Amino acid sequence: MADHESFDAIIIGAGIIGANIGFELSKAGYRTLNIDKLPAAGYGSTGNSCAIIRTHYSTWAGVAMAYEGLFYWKNWADYLETDDERGLAQFIYCGGVYLGDTDRYTDKVLPLFDEIGVPYEVWDMETLAERFPVFDFGSYSPPKRVEDDDFWAEPAEQLQTAVYSPAAGYVSDPQLSTHNLQRAAEAKGGEFRFNTEVTAIPSAEGRVTGVALADGTTIDAPIVVNVAGPHSFVINQLAGVADSMKIKTKALRHEVHHVPAPEGFDFEDNPSLVGDDDLGTYFRPEVGNHILVGSQDPDCDPQIWVSDPDDFAREVSSDQWENQVMRLARRLPTLGVPGDKKGVVDLYDVSDDWIPIYDRTDLDGFYVAIGTSGNQFKNASVAAYCMAQLIQQVEEGHDHDADPVTVVGIHIGLELNLGAYSRNREINRDSSFSVLG
Ligand SMILES: Cc1cc2nc3c(=O)[nH]c(=O)nc-3n(C[C@H](O)[C@H](O)[C@H](O)COP(=O)(O)OP(=O)(O)OC[C@H]3O[C@@H](n4cnc5c(N)ncnc54)[C@H](O)[C@@H]3O)c2cc1C
Repeated sequence: MADHESFDAIIIGAGIIGANIGFELSKAGYRTLNIDKLPAAGYGSTGNSCAIIRTHYSTWAGVAMAYEGLFYWKNWADYLETDDERGLAQFIYCGGVYLGDTDRYTDKVLPLFDEIGVPYEVWDMETLAERFPVFDFGSYSPPKRVEDDDFWAEPAEQLQTAVYSPAAGYVSDPQLSTHNLQRAAEAKGGEFRFNTEVTAIPSAEGRVTGVALADGTTIDAPIVVNVAGPHSFVINQLAGVADSMKIKTKALRHEVHHVPAPEGFDFEDNPSLVGDDDLGTYFRPEVGNHILVGSQDPDCDPQIWVSDPDDFAREVSSDQWENQVMRLARRLPTLGVPGDKKGVVDLYDVSDDWIPIYDRTDLDGFYVAIGTSGNQFKNASVAAYCMAQLIQQVEEGHDHDADPVTVVGIHIGLELNLGAYSRNREINRDSSFSVLG
């Protein structure tokens, strides 16, 4: 390997978004290199993603991007324009039902669905009971912890309505979908290097010049993109841009648990996403008639911020297991809570307002696709398409900070203003400030 290889663009990270940016840039004619310190594509936080695709975000930009993003998954094989010897990840297009916090839906989400054209129905409890006979329909809001006596109290009220949207589903295997993108990028000439750690980001005269690696070599490129997931703040520090960004990112520990579906509830045959705002959980089917259950970060739960993304507790904790699985058991009273705690633990790369940063930086040629806040797996392809447009226009001299780049979604035809994802935006108060975005 020569000491000074050079590429048109280096992408730090080969998670779902990094690999997808590699694909979009190589499709646009750039000679790209994705570098990842792990042994394969999608082995970072992407590999532990629940890979849920849904559109109920709290802002216009959030809903529009997610709805645009859904069509990439629907057209996955065509989008990739290539095969993968491991097969293609499947999009289980099953729809989703959302329970509780009716004000958030009626005041915010449903008007956005109407404006953008996302299909939905408001269901009464009879319809919900027909589809999910094993559910308990009590209203337990606000979410509580099991050590709180009120957690065990009978609900004073019942849920009144639920929102159903067919525009939702999940991807069968997030790591495989990232491998699919690697193969798609390679088919366009993109390269990937694994087990390779970026340790410095050199620059000269206000412009990035490439990356330096742990083995002491450097690789030159006039464009470097930080797509390092929960390590995004570390990479920004290496590039010297962390202080010049108004919106910051940091790593938050998150657990997802894995339990068998209750007796008589064939969740795999009757799949749906369930967003349970009332109990602060979300859940979806997993192979073998199991259920994956995650947290919507209710206020009562402690947030575990991690200062070193290479050093955090990777085992399922008894505390979070008990709270999350017992919340699920309130909704599914026949759920047998297994003694054996199973699940995954990984990090979200959270921005100050839980909305991503897709942007340039004050260092010319250094771009970021970060702050994905536990909710951007679904948007990988639309985000990558937007990043490729942004990079091309900025490199051609466009002043994105003064006049934000706009991109017309190739599927729904709506104009996406990338100023919504600026590193220097004001904190977006319309955000849910949670994984819901
Ligand atoms: C538990 C969990 C559940 C989630 N569920 C959902 C969901 O249901 N739906 C949804 O839309 N989103 C979900 N997300 C969020 C989603 O998975 C992420 O937004 C997405 O995977 C981020 O992809 P990425 O490519 O940006 O980052 P990552 O997949 O984290 O990839 C970053 C890569 O950068 C590499 N890297 C870091 N530093 C260096 C370095 N110095 N040198 C070389 N390489 C480096 C890492 O090794 C890593 O592979 C979830 C996230 C988690 C953790």
